[in-house]
Amino acid sequence: MICFPPCPDASAGFQKMPEGHTIHRAALDQRPMLVGHRLDVSSPQGRFLEGAEVLDGRTCTGIEAYGKHLLYYFGDEALHVHLGLFGMFKPQKCPAAEPKGAVRVRMMSKTHCVDINGPNCCEVLSMPARLALIARIGPDVLRSDADPERAWLRIRKSKTQIGILLMDQAVIAGIGNIYRSELLWRQKVSPETPGHAISRETFDRLWSDAVHLLQIGVKANSIITVDGVKKARSRYGERVNIFNKSHCPACASEIRRVEMASRRAFTCDTCQPNVR
Ligand SMILES: [Zn+2]
Repeated sequence: MICFPPCPDASAGFQKMPEGHTIHRAALDQRPMLVGHRLDVSSPQGRFLEGAEVLDGRTCTGIEAYGKHLLYYFGDEALHVHLGLFGMFKPQKCPAAEPKGAVRVRMMSKTHCVDINGPNCCEVLSMPARLALIARIGPDVLRSDADPERAWLRIRKSKTQIGILLMDQAVIAGIGNIYRSELLWRQKVSPETPGHAISRETFDRLWSDAVHLLQIGVKANSIITVDGVKKARSRYGERVNIFNKSHCPACASEIRRVEMASRRAFTCDTCQPNVR
């Protein structure tokens, strides 16, 4: 059984909330397992009994990711899942093993079983509710139909620091804590720069690099932000430049840690000078 994302590693000193690439990868992986199949839907843990009853026996008609949200379509209704900090997907081939841990929802086709453990959100949405949810989510860097103008219009008027705006899923969707620090370092932008001080040219670079990095993330199923390297053979397989590092790989300066949007960001004051 493979968990997406891997179980949180307390020894790393921080929690890894799934970023957008994990959710898009889950959609890609789970489509052939579930879409087009009539599913047995249950809630082994018992906290999603009513929702499971609504969906049980119905055919899954599609799976789509919007930022960190995953939607499983069942005709005109959808199962909406947000993993939050502790949730995970556990896909496996049938015959399925007994549910392990707090499985909120189990979806089973003839060939595969997908368990969802500990999601932050797990609910059945009507069509209008689904459209309202999508309207609340900012443009997703991994979606081909994303309109970056929506993010730009929010950022250019904002006094909020870009390090906070990039984590605000209503402004721009898919970027989490690790990609935030890595993106800003790669594009030489201080996380403390207010949104209104970001030029259009800088925004375009940030957007393009986010698309580039998260696409790599989907393919590798891991965060790789160092150019020209492969996935590491560690638990998460990540390859990053400054996240949780002590010194900058470009200039050897000490990396500064700063709390932003309740999560720790990393910045090199030499490579990322603050422009106020
Ligand atoms: Zn540096």
